[in-house]
Amino acid sequence: MKKIIRRDFIKAAALTTAAAGAWVFPSCTNPKNESPAVVSSKTYEWKMVTTWPPHFPILGEYADRLAEWINKMSSGRMQIQVYGGGELVPALEVFDAVSQGVAEMGHGAAYYWAGKIPAAQIFTSVPFGMNAQQTNAWLYDGGGLDLWRDLYSRFNLIPFPCGNTGGQMGGWFNKEINSFSDFRGLKIRMPGLGGKVISAAGASTILSPGGELYTNLERGVIDALEWVGPYHDHLMGFHKIAKYYYYPGWQEPSAVLELIVNKNAFNSLPADLQEIIKVAAHSVNVMMLSEFEAKNSEYYLLMKNKEKVQFKKFPDEVFDRLMKTTTDVLNQLAASDAASKLVYDSYKNFKTRIAPWTDIIESNYM
Ligand code: CA
Repeated sequence: MKKIIRRDFIKAAALTTAAAGAWVFPSCTNPKNESPAVVSSKTYEWKMVTTWPPHFPILGEYADRLAEWINKMSSGRMQIQVYGGGELVPALEVFDAVSQGVAEMGHGAAYYWAGKIPAAQIFTSVPFGMNAQQTNAWLYDGGGLDLWRDLYSRFNLIPFPCGNTGGQMGGWFNKEINSFSDFRGLKIRMPGLGGKVISAAGASTILSPGGELYTNLERGVIDALEWVGPYHDHLMGFHKIAKYYYYPGWQEPSAVLELIVNKNAFNSLPADLQEIIKVAAHSVNVMMLSEFEAKNSEYYLLMKNKEKVQFKKFPDEVFDRLMKTTTDVLNQLAASDAASKLVYDSYKNFKTRIAPWTDIIESNYM
């Protein structure tokens, strides 16, 4: 019965549209009773630069999907050409390219811009911080996204959460980590705040691009690395050259990806296209996390049961010391930069507030 009513409604809407010769929103979507919004047929051709290799599994694929969904939802009025890192601009120049309008959009992760905006890295991930579900609650309903927008505003950018890796693994090591002092002198690839913590623990962090990680680990340029989780790490082939796969990923309990849009370009769009971009980013935020969770669970079992990868848990002493070092690193960051203090205080307060709820509802259930 409901279906028939809906079909009739769509048919009626289509007739109205045909009569008007343009897309017209039915008045039921217009509570203020203003005259119906007539949608222009103007086409926008935009560029999206990304920090990922072209069509990179999941991360780059969702940049492609974002463009495809926006195209479909706008009936072709918005066409976005997606560029992998290095195709139009180098991966780590995505922020500047979108800020300056070389491209209208960019997809990547905020912690890549830590050199320019130290507070930005808090939006990607905080060691021993919140999981994906809690982070989304902070961003959308706890003031996090407002702070992110304020922070990027002076760079002429609007950020949107646009993907999440979920919880990550602690990384691949060729020697066992039995005590905190085992980090001393270890050459490890670990970006973001986690890298600062591991440096404070005595390791030397090396920022190799993703494409060079396998060779660097194989040749001993690095002794250890962290990447994402079972699915992505398996694609990278790390299980073939590293002895131990450590967990949990204290350095990234979740990692938020970002869509950045040039503010002038966004403001020049009609309201419906702005809304389409916003909703498409929300969609990617949910769908990417779902795909990571589904594939990680599958590849975890594959590596553990069939490929006999040696999974190891960080010892409690190591975990505790990493946690203490993290607190020091975060306090130093907050003390050195007013924006970082503002964002970190908001993050920390939300984490403290949500913890009792998570405990009663999730921990008890698990
Ligand atoms: Ca990682």
